[in-house]
Amino acid sequence: MRLILLAPPGAGKGTQAELIEEKFGIEHISTGDLLREAVEKGTPLGLKAKRFMDKGELVPDDIVVEIVKNKIRDLKEFILDGFPRTLEQAKILDRFLEENNEKLDAVIEIQVPDEKLVERSTGRLSCKCGEVYHEIYNPPRLEGICDRCGGKLYKREDDNPETMYSRIKTYKMKTLPLIKYYFQKGILRTINGDQDIERVFWDIEKELNKIKS
Ligand code: AMP
Repeated sequence: MRLILLAPPGAGKGTQAELIEEKFGIEHISTGDLLREAVEKGTPLGLKAKRFMDKGELVPDDIVVEIVKNKIRDLKEFILDGFPRTLEQAKILDRFLEENNEKLDAVIEIQVPDEKLVERSTGRLSCKCGEVYHEIYNPPRLEGICDRCGGKLYKREDDNPETMYSRIKTYKMKTLPLIKYYFQKGILRTINGDQDIERVFWDIEKELNKIKS
């Protein structure tokens, strides 16, 4: 399956993408993780991206599009987490898939009320391996240590209330139009994200099983 996870920041996209990857064996590609990796390595692309990420703004399309194309070029199946985030990115992705005689199977939209987003992201603990925890709702077994790889958990620099408000605003302005775009294509599946992690995944799984059968 070729899937997109669409949701505001702090809605649990990364967590759900990891669960889908585990259960269905589909590779999870997070543009946020790839950009953070580039920032950490201090590559020219990372240095350029950091300026936007620190402010909660979107990194220019050309940078992100190249990263994604290189990642999905040879993949038959994937879950895109955090891409596309603009109509322009969505159209570029469609054209790229069409050129390869491929298409998206579904866009999973996870809906979470605004007031929950800041609370969720400010308690988030991330690991380099892609696992995501929450101080209250999904704590690791050992404090500060990833259950999966034993790595040290950290708080993302952009997971603070101020940057979060800016990220939510950016989502509404730039990314929300994608919901109509994919609805009109008939591939949008909406999930209630205001439930615990297992329940959200259960609902996603039901949708994915329908697509597979
Ligand atoms: P995320 O980990 O998905 O919350 O992304 C963290 C940050 O990376 C975002 O706030 C953006 O600055 C940047 N970013 C991630 N994906 C994209 C994208 N598709 N387009 C533009 N910027 C992005």
